[in-house]
Amino acid sequence: MTSQESQPPQQNRGRSLDAHLNRYAARTAGMTASEIRALFAVASRPEVVSLAGGMPNLSALPMDSLATEVARLVAEDGQVAFQYGSAQGVPELREQITEVMALEGIRAHPDDVVVTVGSQMALDTVTRIFCDPGDVVLAEAPSYVGALGSFSAYQAEVVHVAMDDDGLIPDALRAALEAVHSAGKRVKFLYTIPNFHNPAGVTMAVERRAEVLEICARHNVLVLEDNPYGLLGFDDQTYPALRSMDEENVVYLGSFSKTFAPGLRVGWALAPHAVREKLVLASESATLCPPTFNQLLVSRYLATHDWQGQVKTYREVYSERRDAMLSALEQYMPPGCTWTKPDGGFYVWLTVPEGVDTKAMLPRAVTQRVAYVSGTAFHGDGFGSRQMRLSFCYPTPERIHEGVRRLGTVLRDELEL
Ligand code: PMP
Repeated sequence: MTSQESQPPQQNRGRSLDAHLNRYAARTAGMTASEIRALFAVASRPEVVSLAGGMPNLSALPMDSLATEVARLVAEDGQVAFQYGSAQGVPELREQITEVMALEGIRAHPDDVVVTVGSQMALDTVTRIFCDPGDVVLAEAPSYVGALGSFSAYQAEVVHVAMDDDGLIPDALRAALEAVHSAGKRVKFLYTIPNFHNPAGVTMAVERRAEVLEICARHNVLVLEDNPYGLLGFDDQTYPALRSMDEENVVYLGSFSKTFAPGLRVGWALAPHAVREKLVLASESATLCPPTFNQLLVSRYLATHDWQGQVKTYREVYSERRDAMLSALEQYMPPGCTWTKPDGGFYVWLTVPEGVDTKAMLPRAVTQRVAYVSGTAFHGDGFGSRQMRLSFCYPTPERIHEGVRRLGTVLRDELEL
């Protein structure tokens, strides 16, 4: 027995961990646990009102008829559903996806749709095929934490572009592009969430969309449009997708996570022809194919259920919760706080007075049984410590009210009011 083998198991484990540290590829340095993940354990304790997570409210789903649909799928189509499938995705689902996108003005051919394991995988794959280490990705300030995770995993540098209540500011985009170019760096794409932004809660004004597209086309910068919330507008309004206004320079990402169910992990990318081929090759090497069973289930659901009626039900649920959050904020926030007023989606973006650091305050908030995500999680550059994201999608209106009340108390303590 060698001296190493005779050591107690605990010590062996310590040693092998160190050995692995030396083996990791350099790009793993950019892979760190998101602040949201670290929060999940504490925030899921029942006494804590979590305004942190972005989980859809699935109590509105028709579980009984879904159980019947699952049984039918197994009985009628089991041989296909349990088998490998095409890397690009099931053809009938790709056809239906084009119909879903038509609701936001997109004309597309099913051949240009690639089904992915949630739109998160599409984000990862798009970054993989475009970004070398050091390439610049432009993203709104703040931006979606999962996208920032993919950008950093491929060692892309994120340059944030300011937003206001009408979304991305075209002048700020121009300035960012010029600054990056004069630093001699290469911008690979602009990542944007035009509708019901996560985490900012704002929507890009329609007048700005053409301008943003024109600026990107002029600078030869691809646009990556991420639109998981587009059908969740509370006044039933949809906005024209950027892809509907430019078919050549936009890669569009969609998802069934917010309109149906996130556990199925079915999303998609719609890309110009040449990009689509690379996407298929890249996703094939990652997963062989997206899950056939889940794709066929989504396909049957779209064909046999009133799925648009279900989306309407979701809109009603979330709109009631948005109202609960906005009125509680009015009631309980101390002077000097401001917040966005979303017309759809899941999130409010709160700015607190100077002197409060939302990241440092979080442990105290959790002690007071309320959780949120600090604004720093949504920035790749350390900004956001005076902001936080508040999600209204999951807790009931009563819990939202109570959570915001507790948050108000924590903030007042912090400000010594
Ligand atoms: N983009 C945005 C803006 C999101 O908010 C989310 C989910 N929180 C995703 C992409 C990923 O969604 P999914 O992988 O479930 O399709």
